[in-house]
Amino acid sequence: MVQVSGAHLRSRHGVDDPVVVVDDINPLGSTRHLWMHSMLAMELDTLRDEARDLLDETSTLRRTLHRWPELGNDLPVTRETVLGALDGLPLGVTLHETTSGIAALLDGGKPGPTVLLRGDMDALPLKEDTGLDFESATEGQMHACGHDTHTAMLVGAAKLLSARRADIPGRVLFMFQPGEEGHGGAQFMIDEGLLDPGPAADGSDSPVTGAYALHITSNLPTGWIATKGGSIMASADTMLITVTGRGGHASQPHHALDPIPIACEIVQAIQMMVTRTIDVFDPSVVTVGRITAGTTNNVIPEKAVIEGTIRAISESTRKKVTDGIRRVAEGVSAAHDAQVTVEFLDGYPVTSNNAGAADFALGVVKDLIGENQTVRLPNPVMGAEDFSYVLNQVPGAMLFLGGTSPDRNPNTAAPNHSNRVLFDEAAMVNGIAVYSAMALRHLTPAT
Ligand SMILES: [Zn+2]
Ligand SMILES: [Zn+2]
Repeated sequence: MVQVSGAHLRSRHGVDDPVVVVDDINPLGSTRHLWMHSMLAMELDTLRDEARDLLDETSTLRRTLHRWPELGNDLPVTRETVLGALDGLPLGVTLHETTSGIAALLDGGKPGPTVLLRGDMDALPLKEDTGLDFESATEGQMHACGHDTHTAMLVGAAKLLSARRADIPGRVLFMFQPGEEGHGGAQFMIDEGLLDPGPAADGSDSPVTGAYALHITSNLPTGWIATKGGSIMASADTMLITVTGRGGHASQPHHALDPIPIACEIVQAIQMMVTRTIDVFDPSVVTVGRITAGTTNNVIPEKAVIEGTIRAISESTRKKVTDGIRRVAEGVSAAHDAQVTVEFLDGYPVTSNNAGAADFALGVVKDLIGENQTVRLPNPVMGAEDFSYVLNQVPGAMLFLGGTSPDRNPNTAAPNHSNRVLFDEAAMVNGIAVYSAMALRHLTPAT
């Protein structure tokens, strides 16, 4: 993850004002919510104060996590750190066995359904160059996607909501997941039963009825929240096409079957297939990143290999494109009498926000932090996210949290995954409050 269309950011107040806003957003001022009566409004104000009170300890935890990043699904140090931070809270903790995932369940004082909040815990394999005094102490590993802030904020929300336990009608399931950066950590946790936490302590039925995640981004100002209904992030699959001809002498191609021009033709035909058959309003991006063939200039090789990625923002286009790639590769190869194999490695599916859940989340956020910091995104982001696996089973939404401090420009700030990316810890106040408010509101429906 994640790139929130920085090109859409512009200055609202003129060139001297560092405040930036997102173009083309739907104003949220007109949205009214039945549940927004005065008592709940007061509660929202209190929530932000409670989140602010947690900022120091949340920042301390975040810095510890940042200093000791770990990769993939096995995060033993991170897991111990999180468990230490949760120690003493009234949570039912399940340690997952196939990964370092932690599922922590808060039983409210009243019966009701379960709402899931997700924070991911893994880092990325790159050397950090931020110069922070809590910079990574592990060479070649860095929390460059801000998952350290997610984990710390989710711990903060667990503390905040635990303090309100008696008033919560239902349960809150805190999902601390490993392996978001391409390792499918969410799916491993689902396979271990994450989404079926069983009945509540009093024996009543308490299914998971909603799921929410936050992702920090340096492409938005500190504390801003952005999301949209429907597709919010793309699928990302990999393709591997192997064209097999017959090797021979470069001077006698008629005695060989040269796979190289056939591979070139396939690459061209794939791009034509995408532009001529895919709806521009339901787009796909196919990129061939590598073609491998041959060993020297005067030998016709036997094989040519094409590798690339396929991104889409709907499952129907995703299927149409993979079907098209197979058809084109097989058709072009057959036309030249060559053999071909076409393989796809499924990556994360499209991350699709439930429309109602996204509207609900935007309403909560607007009332919590104000409409000037609440953005309805005009477009999805073409990165991918494995919270998609959760959202394929439970209605919910993924939201972006701005993390660039007011003295820097989100347009030019180093992006997520950069060796120089910086996240403003002040954003975590809104993050903790938003996590908590979404859980409380989800469990306290309109009256
Ligand atoms: Zn990432
Ligand atoms: Zn991420």
